[in-house]
Amino acid sequence: MPVVCSSCEKKNAVLKRPKTGLSLCKDCFFWAFEEEVHQTISSARLFTAGETVGIGASGGKDSTVLAHVMKVLNERYSYGLDLMLLSVDEGITGYRDDSLETVKRNQQQYDLPLKIVSYQELYGWTMDAIVKQVGLKNNCTFCGVFRRQALDRAAMMLKVDKICTGHNADDVAETVLMNFLRGDIARLRRCTAITTGSEGAIPRCKPLKYAYEKEIVLYAYFKKLDYFSTECVYSPNAYRGHARAFLKDLESIRPSAIVDIIHSGENLSVKEDVKMPVQGTCMRCGYISSQKLCKACVLLEGLNRGLPKLGIGKHHKLHHKLLAQEPLTEKEEKKLKAVDF
Ligand code: SF4
Ligand code: ZN
Repeated sequence: MPVVCSSCEKKNAVLKRPKTGLSLCKDCFFWAFEEEVHQTISSARLFTAGETVGIGASGGKDSTVLAHVMKVLNERYSYGLDLMLLSVDEGITGYRDDSLETVKRNQQQYDLPLKIVSYQELYGWTMDAIVKQVGLKNNCTFCGVFRRQALDRAAMMLKVDKICTGHNADDVAETVLMNFLRGDIARLRRCTAITTGSEGAIPRCKPLKYAYEKEIVLYAYFKKLDYFSTECVYSPNAYRGHARAFLKDLESIRPSAIVDIIHSGENLSVKEDVKMPVQGTCMRCGYISSQKLCKACVLLEGLNRGLPKLGIGKHHKLHHKLLAQEPLTEKEEKKLKAVDF
């Protein structure tokens, strides 16, 4: 016996919502999902009419759903936003080249302008070349730092007021867990914020912050959205993987675990005497940084000098030497050269 949709009570239900357990028909699910994103956007006042908003687009399910829903809501509720797609080409053969093709199709399908910036043009290195030098253990550190800055640079080129990214509830919960497990209090405090980067950087927000990954997959599937679902060929990210597996276990026992962890993270308060980094700007490239040199400049310097460990771990004491272009001692060099592949 087919189950009737518990919302419209007319059509047959095609799915059981992971978030609420309700059986819904396709249209009622689409409506509920979109309305929840609209709620997130309006209650946090993420955007103001007249703004240009860059959607970080990777071709994956999250950013494809984000682009689709942003377009729908912008029209349905007259947000008055100028939307565009921003993509980063990390230079990963067999992964990013294919996913960028998806983004290019999305550009046509959604009729939005698209800007692609590449690591090669910005840093002179592709991820393929970086992995050759640094191996597969720390590659995501390079990639993550470079991507963050690359997206900002693309946004600046296009005079974008805000960037929105496809981070979903599972990602945020995972990050809370990871920062908690690492004792990274500064990040723990920041990571649940729906908008970040008011300290001089282009603000970034996460309209899908409360959307479950499972529902994003269902939405993309039933809407027949065109997205790319292959994993990055260099994806080790072991620590995040453990946090993810742990979260999935918790979710299978208690589906609200994801949103519960986010709420816990949002309501944590950090003791007054915890030292928080002071934001300044990088003396080399002008990007926001709590040190003399931003992380991207240090990582890049390490790559260019053949000392890949320079940006991994804490070597702040060496920054003045780098800035002054002074040579490092043999001992310092030796320590920074060794890479665990
Ligand atoms: Fe970059 Fe690592 Fe993500 Fe691959 S898995 S795109 S290397 S951050
Ligand atoms: Zn810099």
